[in-house]
Amino acid sequence: MSTVTITDLEAAVEDAAAHLYVWALKDIPQDLREALADAATRETSVPGQRVLQTILKNVNVAESEKNLVCQDTGIAVYTCRVGEHFPLHPARIYAALKAGTERATIEHPLRSNAVHTITRENTGPNTGYRLPIVHWEFIPDWDGLDVKCVPKGSGSENMSFLKMCVPADGVKGVKKFVLESIVEAGGKPCPPGIVGVGIGGSADYAMYLAKEAIARPVGTRNADPHVAKLEEELYELLNETGIGPMGLGGDVTVLQCHVEHADTHMTLNPVAVNYQCWAARRASAHVAANGEVEFDREF
Ligand code: SF4
Repeated sequence: MSTVTITDLEAAVEDAAAHLYVWALKDIPQDLREALADAATRETSVPGQRVLQTILKNVNVAESEKNLVCQDTGIAVYTCRVGEHFPLHPARIYAALKAGTERATIEHPLRSNAVHTITRENTGPNTGYRLPIVHWEFIPDWDGLDVKCVPKGSGSENMSFLKMCVPADGVKGVKKFVLESIVEAGGKPCPPGIVGVGIGGSADYAMYLAKEAIARPVGTRNADPHVAKLEEELYELLNETGIGPMGLGGDVTVLQCHVEHADTHMTLNPVAVNYQCWAARRASAHVAANGEVEFDREF
């Protein structure tokens, strides 16, 4: 019989959140490091090459100095997969994620970015009304909890776009909109990064899917072959823009393009674009029902 108490479990989730937020900010995933190194082998423009070498050096310095890869600590966005038998209620999970975010911000310390959206007054240690942002998924026949933390910098989040295409626009219209969005974004979202595209569902769900897409390991392909083909085509197309690293011109504008999709209404064709900068930070933890925590990059 488990001896874990709910308070212990809440404390375990809080500790996990505090660790994830800082870990994600300091130590970028291996697949991203490889994608950046690979980009440097392909980039032929001199300014682009210089930017990529600086980025790679930045990553190594952050690691050796145990410091942040970027000063923008972003807003903490969590995705939780909650097993139906996990003993802690989602309301308590949310409280623990919030407390963990605050602790990480105060104890590290991290820059506190959160403000009231009208008054612009700081609302505290990277938390506030409806902050942090948490997306939920509930898993039947399971007693665990997976938490993924994706700190989202403003430079890239500001480069988010939504269009309600019509069905007659088809896939061609989707590609045109993604291309126009990335051209409009130019160097602002600190390229080369990951372009997340959400298609289908509804307006809000398409943007949620775009956010899901940026949090996938770099270069993974959608299980649906139609969507995977679109990912490949968009990846090629976006790298033909010549925007290049930090918008200074070059061959590598995006490290990857990931697409997530949902079925939709027969008269809808929503397309959302969410950009993730080169510092595509993410980190995950698995919390067992007995309070044991394992840290990993993925769930
Ligand atoms: S967009 Fe990314 S790399 Fe650029 S400043 Fe923001 S967090 Fe840093």
